[in-house]
Amino acid sequence: MQNNLIIYNTLSRTKEKFTPITPGRVGLYVCGPTVYSDVHLGNCRTFISFDLIYRYLLFLGFKVRYVRNITDAGHLEGDRDEGDDKFAKKAKLEQLEPMEIVQKYTLGFHDVMREVNALPPSIEPTATGHICEQVEMIKTIIEKGYAYEKNGTVYFDVEKYNKEFSYGQLTNRKLEELLEGTRELIGQDEKKGRLDFALWIAAKPETLMKWPSPWGWGFPGWHIECSAMSSKYLGETFDIHGGGMDLQATHHTNEIAQSQACNNKAPVNYWMHTNMLTVNGVRMSKSAGNGFLPGELFTGDHPLLEKGYSPMAVRFFMMQTHYRSTLDFSNEALQASEKGFARLIASIKLLDNLKPSATSTSNIKELEQECFNAMNDDFNSPILIANLFEGSRIINSVNDGKETITADDLAMLKKLMHDFAFDVMGLKSENSNSTSDKALQGVMEVILEIRKDVKAKKDFAASDKLRDDLNKVNITIKDTKDGATWSIQE
Ligand code: AMP
Ligand code: ZN
Repeated sequence: MQNNLIIYNTLSRTKEKFTPITPGRVGLYVCGPTVYSDVHLGNCRTFISFDLIYRYLLFLGFKVRYVRNITDAGHLEGDRDEGDDKFAKKAKLEQLEPMEIVQKYTLGFHDVMREVNALPPSIEPTATGHICEQVEMIKTIIEKGYAYEKNGTVYFDVEKYNKEFSYGQLTNRKLEELLEGTRELIGQDEKKGRLDFALWIAAKPETLMKWPSPWGWGFPGWHIECSAMSSKYLGETFDIHGGGMDLQATHHTNEIAQSQACNNKAPVNYWMHTNMLTVNGVRMSKSAGNGFLPGELFTGDHPLLEKGYSPMAVRFFMMQTHYRSTLDFSNEALQASEKGFARLIASIKLLDNLKPSATSTSNIKELEQECFNAMNDDFNSPILIANLFEGSRIINSVNDGKETITADDLAMLKKLMHDFAFDVMGLKSENSNSTSDKALQGVMEVILEIRKDVKAKKDFAASDKLRDDLNKVNITIKDTKDGATWSIQE
C-alpha cells in the first residue's frame, strides 16, 4: 500500500504526513449527533466530510475502525454546565420518555445518513451505554488529583491541570486569555476555578435520566463520554479525532484534558475539524433557527428553498468545497451543483458506449495521478472534482469523435471515474441500477441496431427520422466513425 497522505492537524496547525500508529490500520473517532432533535444540514456537512475521509482511507487500503458516537445523555443547554437537560425538555414537550426521543432521532439520523450515502461507522456507541466506563474514568481523574467533588457534582480542575499541561493547546490560547473570556465566579458557584467543567452532574429531583455513582445519583457531563468511548474502542492514544470546528474550544479541549489527566498520554495524534455550513454568512444551528432539515431540502418544502434537491446533488454540493473552508448555502450554488453532478454522471454512463482507437489523445495515467494528488493533499475534494470534470470532458470528446482513446486507457479511465466518483466521493447515480434504466439501455441498443440496418439499406430518410424522433425526447444520437452513440440531454 502506497501512503502519501498529508493531513492538516489542528493541533500543530500544519499539514503533516499521515503516519498511523499501527501500519495499515487507522483508528478514527468522530463526535456524533446529539439525538434530541433532527440533524440539520450543517450537522450533515460534518458527517459527509468525515464519510469522504473514511472512504478515502478505506480506498487507500487501510483497515479503519471508525467510531462515531451517539450523544443521548448528559447534555445541558449551556456550554458551561448550566441550563436544562435538552432530552428532558424535549421529552416533556413531546410527551415521550427521554429514551423514546433518543430512539426517534437516532432512527431519523440513520435515515438521513443512508439517503446521502454515508457509510455506517464500525462502532456507534451511545453515552448511556457507557456510564460505567465514564464513572471509572472520573474516579481515576479524581485519584490523580485533577478533579474534585462538590455536592454530588464532580468538576475538572483546569488551573491545576494547566500547571503541568497546556489546557488551551488545541486553539493555541493561553490560560490567561481563556480566563479573560469567562465570567467571575459568584458566591453560589460550586466550582473552584472559572474554567472548571463538570465531569459528573448531581441529579435534581426533576432529573429524568440519572444513574447511581460514587457521588450519588447523577449523570455524566457532555465531554467525558467521548474520552471514555474513544479510549475504550481505539486505545489511550489513537490516530484521528474529528468533529466540527465549533467543538474545538470547549468539547475537544476538555476531551484532551480529561484523557491526558486520566492516562497521562496525549489521546490523539491528528485532530481534524470541518468548517461550518452557513446561511447568508451565519452558522447554521439549531439555536439560530436557520437550519434546514435534510428532508425539507429534498422536498423543497421550506421558505428559503426555490425547489427540492436530490440527496446526491446535496452531497456533491458539499464536496465542491474543501472541508476546512466555510460553505454558504444558496439556491444558485445548489442548482449549479445539481447540473455539475448530472453532467458527471451522464459522462460516466457514456463510458460503456465509447469505442477504443489505436491511439489516445489524452494522458489518462496523469489524470489518475492528479486525482490521487488531490485527495492526498488533505482530502481536497474540489480539486478532485475538477479532475473528474476533465475526465468527463475527455469522455464527451471521444464520444463526439473529436478525440481518441486506446482500449487500455479507456479501461483506466473507466476505473478511475468509478473509483473516485462512487467509492471515494460516495456519489451514486440516482437511478443507475433501476430496472427502467437497464430497460432504456436495452431499448437504445435495439434502436441503434435498427438504425444501422436501415442505413445499410440506404434508407436515410428512415434513419434521420429515428434520430429526430429520439431528439424530441431528449436523446441525442451521434454518428462517429466507429458507429453511433447515444446520450441523454440533461
Ligand atoms: P451536535 O448534534 O450539535 O452535537 O452536532 C453534531 C456535529 O455537527 C458536530 O460535529 C458539530 O460540530 C457539527 N455541526 C454543527 N453545526 C454545524 C454547521 N453549521 N456546519 C457544519 N457542522 C456543524
Ligand atoms: Zn465528542
